[in-house]
Amino acid sequence: MRRKLVVGNWKMNGSRVKNTSLLDGVMTGVRDLHNADYVVCVPYPYLGQAQSLLQGSNVAWGAQNLCATEDGALTGAVSPDMLVDYGCTHVIIGHSERRIQFHETDDTAATRFNVALKAGLTPIFCMGESREERESDWTEYVVGRQLDSIIRRFGADFLAKAVLAYEPLWAVGTDKPATPEQAQEVHSFIRGRIARCNAEVAKNVRILYGGSVNPANAAQLFAMPDVDGSLVGRCSLDAKAFVDICQAACQAPMTS
Ligand code: PEP
Repeated sequence: MRRKLVVGNWKMNGSRVKNTSLLDGVMTGVRDLHNADYVVCVPYPYLGQAQSLLQGSNVAWGAQNLCATEDGALTGAVSPDMLVDYGCTHVIIGHSERRIQFHETDDTAATRFNVALKAGLTPIFCMGESREERESDWTEYVVGRQLDSIIRRFGADFLAKAVLAYEPLWAVGTDKPATPEQAQEVHSFIRGRIARCNAEVAKNVRILYGGSVNPANAAQLFAMPDVDGSLVGRCSLDAKAFVDICQAACQAPMTS
């Protein structure tokens, strides 16, 4: 059975003061929600704060990116081992904002995916098409290509210890979420493509939906058989909204 997973992506938001009450609100709100898993991915400078506030709770923490190199002369970069040093369990890889604004490619995302796994981190690998690509009927081509950047290079087995996230660019940060049916269609495509290589991995891998998830639409999305939770941007900055989404995940049926 796949447990639902809700991951908050704070992006470049937060301050030590704001984070304290946000993390406290999240921790308190999900304390008794035992049927799902919860992660917050915070900016690098706040990993230490997340670690000291969250350790011992049922909220894990992670980062939003990492560098593919272990150490060395790479000004401004953060290595996988540094994330592990701060107790991170998860790291987001290949978010559309990284792909577009920082020119990351399928290839560099796949390299970082591999490095994250080697360090013992769970990569949350993001895929998704633009509005133009969807309107041209290229969704499966684009998402398939992004997924294949991992499968071709490392094999489908590598997905066993990862989390996947379908994040259509037209839904991220827009208040225009995919409908549950649209999300289900692409999630089912992703699972089917993995199943061609490894049925067991396909059955067990969690595929999150991301893009304008909020407390009002979460339950319907989580009711879809291949939607195993969500990657949440804006609503992860509001403790009540994030906890409400976590509650919907906790109450949703587990699927297999
Ligand atoms: C995201 O950027 O990962 C995201 C899903 O953002 P939002 O929830 O704000 O659409």
